[in-house]
Amino acid sequence: MKRILSMTLLLVFAFFATAIAQEKRIPAKGMAKFSKDGNFQSYAFTRHAVGDNDVLIDILYAGICHSDIHTERDYWWSVKYPLVAGHEIAGRVIQVGKKVTKFKVGDYAGVGCMVNSCGECEYCKRGEEQYCLKGNVGTYASPDYFHNNEITQGGYSNNIVLSENFAIKIPKNADLKKVAPLLCAGITTYSPIHFTHVKKGDTIAVAGFGGLGYMAVQYAVALGAKVTVFDITEDKRQDALTMGAVKYVNVKNPDELKGLENSFRVILSTIPAKYDLSIYLKMLKVDGDMVVIGLPAFSNSPSIDVTNLVMAGRRKLYGTQIGGIRETQEMLDYSVSHNIYPKVEIISADKIDEAYQKVLAGEVRYRYVIDMSTLK
Ligand SMILES: [Zn+2]
Ligand SMILES: [Zn+2]
Repeated sequence: MKRILSMTLLLVFAFFATAIAQEKRIPAKGMAKFSKDGNFQSYAFTRHAVGDNDVLIDILYAGICHSDIHTERDYWWSVKYPLVAGHEIAGRVIQVGKKVTKFKVGDYAGVGCMVNSCGECEYCKRGEEQYCLKGNVGTYASPDYFHNNEITQGGYSNNIVLSENFAIKIPKNADLKKVAPLLCAGITTYSPIHFTHVKKGDTIAVAGFGGLGYMAVQYAVALGAKVTVFDITEDKRQDALTMGAVKYVNVKNPDELKGLENSFRVILSTIPAKYDLSIYLKMLKVDGDMVVIGLPAFSNSPSIDVTNLVMAGRRKLYGTQIGGIRETQEMLDYSVSHNIYPKVEIISADKIDEAYQKVLAGEVRYRYVIDMSTLK
């Protein structure tokens, strides 16, 4: 009898504890896909409660990244639907946890590709949370191991809750409409340009002049590098030269590739499709770096023959992912103070499907940014 009573009490307690925890959950609404092939629809959901070290951000703008499309369309791994994508987020802090020191209510804040990480491994400790050995908690479609492994939902929504450590301070004088894409496209290009020590007078190349390429060229030109841009269309030639590139190569014109062997100390490849890596490797100088940041769909991923790699002779080929939180803050401050932004087109929340189509068709040189005030 006594045992039954204590069991009942325990159950009642558990029920109320859950109810209280549920109560504190934050109601959210966003644009989600409910299946791989479906269109975006509005979706009401909740986010975890604002913990002592968390901030609640009212999302004002969210950029559309090519990775969102790959994930929403299930190109990379199987995801759980409904799925709200978006990891280029700019907004305003509307609530802070008791122990938050970095933000106060009213501050502008940004969120990129990660919302948390283990904080204990060698990479987290040195500020490279993107390489966390436990795996960082991605901004969307990622099990949040700090919150019962619930699957995170991204920025195509009206709000987000995350640890203050993973929120980036947006300077007051930033052009808010254009800031969001810096949180992914900005850091993805800024980081390799800095760890390869691109400097004044360096000869470097940027392959692919889309959303990432557009940022890479600006950072490299700002550092005084001589930048050559590669793409497959004539349309982008003028834009690249106007931005400060010294040369534009239309890869579809084989003549334009002649004489470029052994030319570049660094090549940043932002190409999100299949291409011949060995062509680019040959254009590197010995000990030069070819850094791959463009991420194609699995089915369209380029590969390289080992023989070609050996024959390339100490020309390095490797990939990289975004940057750590400290570096993301540095990138954002640098970009705002040097007036380096993506070119953006602002769209309303009901135009995401259309935007995806255009990005997939490779027509877009700017970043689509969703104005979240249009979310119904
Ligand atoms: Zn991205
Ligand atoms: Zn870690």
